[in-house]
Amino acid sequence: MIGAIEAGGTKFVCGVGDKDGNIFERVTIPTTTPDETLEQVHSFFQNKKISALGVGSFGPVDLDRSSSTYGYITSTPKRHWNHVNLIGELKKHFSIPIGFDTDVNAAALGESLWGAAKGLDSCIYITVGTGIGVGALVEGKLIHGLTHPEMGHILVRRHVEDAYQGNCSYHGDCLEGLAAGPAIEKRWGKKAYELSNEKKVWEMEAYYLAQAITQYILILSPKRIILGGGVMKQEQLFPLIHTHVQSNIGNYIQHEQIMERIEEYIVPPNLGDNAGLAGAIGLVSSYNIE
Ligand code: ADP
Ligand code: ZN
Repeated sequence: MIGAIEAGGTKFVCGVGDKDGNIFERVTIPTTTPDETLEQVHSFFQNKKISALGVGSFGPVDLDRSSSTYGYITSTPKRHWNHVNLIGELKKHFSIPIGFDTDVNAAALGESLWGAAKGLDSCIYITVGTGIGVGALVEGKLIHGLTHPEMGHILVRRHVEDAYQGNCSYHGDCLEGLAAGPAIEKRWGKKAYELSNEKKVWEMEAYYLAQAITQYILILSPKRIILGGGVMKQEQLFPLIHTHVQSNIGNYIQHEQIMERIEEYIVPPNLGDNAGLAGAIGLVSSYNIE
């Protein structure tokens, strides 16, 4: 049995599954203070007889195993969670191998092992929710680096009709500041799901997301692009994004996946609610074990 944790800013999902990504039991714990939340995490796993644990976490996180702050959540704007030693706290209770990566890297890995990018050695997973995060698997490996990529915070060209200033607390009008759920809601003054019928809203949203995706394609050349998160429940976004991406690429990358079958190239996730947990299990079977 392998334990899995999807550590999010709103909720921690914990589960138990097998090495093939099957989940047998899961629980959702609200993210409050680290003490309170991790106490509940510990008690869930207490009698589960897990032999390893995979953790995909919101971030930024320190993934450098030679660093003195490895396993920490670092500069998050999330209250109470700045500079929290997540993996250190887990290790106090479980002396088993722990795989650790960002939530979006875990999701990209899970989708490549069992979901929408199954069998491919390359994909990116983009979540458009409270924030925008992107995980990337390239040549069979999850990408890290100096820290880890932060592709949700790239700069984009403004839409000519957009007067909204952006709400990223670090950059103002970066992609996340203009296109994550809270930005949509502040710009238009309504909950995102109440805006379903407002064409202009989704046209502008697709304009921003397609710009970002175009840049990811140009830089990483991923073999599949998976778009999840609360905002992507607006399925009308997919065809709009497809059209904008094709237009941005401008026939420069002449691959049939982009020119003719883009609806099979830029797709929704395939693992549904278990994507995060399956990905966390993937971290144990594949990567980053310590
Ligand atoms: P999180 O990013 O916190 O893990 P979600 O991926 O569910 O959680 O994202 C939450 C955001 O998604 C909310 O800010 C909201 O704006 C947006 N959202 C949730 N449901 C919908 C929907 N049906 N249509 C459009 N936007 C939605
Ligand atoms: Zn930003």
